[in-house]
This record gives sequence, C-alpha cells and structure tokens, in this order.
Amino acid sequence: MKQNNLQFNSKHIWHPYDSISKPLPCYMIQSACGVYLKLDSGLKIIDGMSSWWSAIHGYNHPILKKHLVQQVNNITHVMFGGIIHKPALLLCKELLKILPKKLKCIFLCDSGSVAIEVAMKMALQYWNNNKKTRRIFLTIRNGYHGDTFSAISVCDPKNSMHKLYKTILPKHFFAKKPKIFFKEKWNNYDIHSFLDLIVNNQSTIAGVILEPILQGIGGMQFYHVEYLKQVRLLCNMYDIPLIIDEIATGFGRTGKMFAYEHANIIPDILCIGKALTGGMMTLAATITTKKIAHQISNNYPYKFMHGPTFMGNPLACSVAQKNISLLRKNIWKKQVKRIEKYFQNKLFLLLNHPRICAIRVIGAIAVIECYHNINLKLMQKFFVNYGVWIRPFKQIIYLTPPYIIKTIHLKKLIQSIKLAINDNSLFIF
Ligand SMILES: *Cc1c(COP(=O)(O)O)cnc(C)c1O
Repeated sequence: MKQNNLQFNSKHIWHPYDSISKPLPCYMIQSACGVYLKLDSGLKIIDGMSSWWSAIHGYNHPILKKHLVQQVNNITHVMFGGIIHKPALLLCKELLKILPKKLKCIFLCDSGSVAIEVAMKMALQYWNNNKKTRRIFLTIRNGYHGDTFSAISVCDPKNSMHKLYKTILPKHFFAKKPKIFFKEKWNNYDIHSFLDLIVNNQSTIAGVILEPILQGIGGMQFYHVEYLKQVRLLCNMYDIPLIIDEIATGFGRTGKMFAYEHANIIPDILCIGKALTGGMMTLAATITTKKIAHQISNNYPYKFMHGPTFMGNPLACSVAQKNISLLRKNIWKKQVKRIEKYFQNKLFLLLNHPRICAIRVIGAIAVIECYHNINLKLMQKFFVNYGVWIRPFKQIIYLTPPYIIKTIHLKKLIQSIKLAINDNSLFIF
C-alpha cells in the first residue's frame, strides 16, 4: 500500500522545483505535532525547517487548531467582494497593533508571490497618471521574491529562475549585492552601486524592492543595517516607494518582529506571508501607507486592480489573528534568543572544518555554507535516517526550527549536521 502511494506520487504529482520523470524521493508524512513530523513508518523526526519558515509555533498547535475548528463550524469561505467578516476585521486590527503607525491599508493575498505582485502593482498604480508613469523597479542582486512572473523579474538574474524566462521578463535595475556582513564594520562603498542606479534613473523608477537584512533563497546572506538605512534615505530623497519583502523574515525569525526593525526604518509597502498563519495554511498580505493608497485611488482607474477569489479567506484570517495574538504575548523573543545563543555556542566551533566555508547565525536562523554542492537526495536520506528533517540547497545547510524547539532537539539537529559534513558521499565534487 505504502509503496503504491509513493509510486503514484512520483508518477503523477509535481513537487516544488522537481522533475516528473526523475523526481527526488518523497517521504510520506502521517501527522505532525510540536517539533515532530511522524513518517508513515511510525518514525518521528525533528523538524529543523518550520516548513519553510512558516510553522513557528510547531505543528498542530492546540490553540491555533482549536481556533481553526471553531471557524470551520462557523464559515469556511465567502467572497470578499461586497462582504466583510469578523475574522478579517480581527486579523487586520491585530496586524495594525504590531505594525508601524504609518502602515494603515491592508490588502489580503493568497500567497507570498501574490503579495509581491500586489506590491509591485501598487507601486505602478501609484505612478499611474499621465505625467509620471513609471515602470521599472530597482532591486539588489541575490534577491528572491517568489515564483510568479513579476516576482521572478526582481529575483537575482543569475542564480534564480530569472534566467530561464529572461526573454519575456520586463527589465529592471539590479544593484550589486551588499557585501558587508551584518556584524562587520560599515563602509559606504557598499551602497555605491545602488546609489548610482537610483541617482541616474530616479525619474523612471517606480519602486525599490528588497528583502530586509536577510537575503533568503538567493544565498542566505545577512547584510549590514546601514545598507538598509541608506536605501531608506535614498528612497525618501527621490520620493520612490520602498517595498520591503518580509515574507521569510517576518514574525520574529531574525530576533525582531520584522527584520527592518534592525535598521529602525519603516517601509512604504510591506509584504508578509509564510509565518502569518503560524504555518497552518496559506495567507499573505501587502500593507501600505495612506499616502500611497490614496494616491492609487486618485489615479486612473481610481481603484486598486486586484481581487483574488479566495481573498480574505475566513479560515486563514481567523488562524492568522490567533497566531499574532500568540506572538503578542512576546514569549517568542526569549525562544528566539535562546535558539540564537545555542547556535552561536555550538556552530561556530565548526568554523575550522575543511568542508565549511562560512557559518552565519541571526535569530532562529543558522546557515552552514559548504565549499561543495550537496547531493540533496543522499543528504536528505541521511538526515531522515538520523531522525531529523533538514532540507539543504546548493552548498547550503540551514536551520529555521520552530520557536518552541527544546535544547535536546537542537542538539540532535546540530549533531546530524556534524555527521553529514564528515561524510564525503553526501557531496558532489
Ligand atoms: C517564500 C518567499 C516568497 C514567496 O512566497 P510564496 O508563498 O512561496 O509564494 C517571496 N519572498 C520571499 C522572501 C520568500 O521567502
């Protein structure tokens, strides 16, 4: 039976970034609870990923689950055109409590990529009057903003899907990637490329878009707060909307509720997603200032032109509201700090390992960058056999565990990585 399921899967079901004819293996999951994923074999493995940054309170969280079930008994979905409901009202009120006062107008989206599309459309519509029409975005290399076309168009032009679709993507400006690390000494040369582009093209740039402090899938690098501060200043100086993509970094992951807080700045348009529902289901949002929202409404066609069928889904809104109210109890701060300390104490010991070229830690994120590419299939199997769920990419093994994780679990995650990097067969030479 089990074999049949896996065979059916590999024949008929696409998985993220995978092939149908030669797919990577999949592991059948029966259930999940706390930090554990339970495989079909009955084996329980420790989750080091939070399901791609989302399940911050662990799986099957009793409060979130209870809330979701209550909402199921009430209403699971209704169209958002001409209708409002309590879950959406309560979520948006809750969101405004954790956001800067300037960010006031919320657009609910179905996923992170959609939130990026919406943000870019907002910037385009903001400029949409005859005198000032602008179409080009300015971003930085090494970025990742999602998989839909506008999102890909501002992903790194080399190390993402960007190059695959290059011929049909609109052309945007890419500043050199920030080089100065989060904790290093700042030097203004790092901003020069960005500065040149914004100064020379100010009248054509519709918006600046970037990930704050941490660039995720583009290489898991953390850049200097001064970089972000200067980006903010330059956007102010030239009156260009700043779009901040907090889809991965939001909701405490880097040690601040939002990563832009490290630089003490406020975006003009903010995208959130991933952990918004505590990993229970898909929901994202794009939030902007009254100034931008009203400017959009003053320009042709005098409305904002987006409206997904499942916009403001009550189930997703209700569980997101509860997730934020859990976060507002502020326990996450201690949890993330504890994880960060543990990573710092245990991982930096590995710095001299011949397989490792860099180790980076910020908040509840650890990045182990190796010299060689990883054999994903074999290393994944190695981790599962050891009892952990870690999914590396390229040369990078990273951990983004649920905030509720205990020290014994962290110990096992790190032990598994120590063993994996000692095993030559798990790398591609
Ligand atoms: C995951 C991610 C997205 C895309 O979100 P999806 O929900 O996968 O569409 C966009 N930006 C960043 C920084 C992300 O990490």
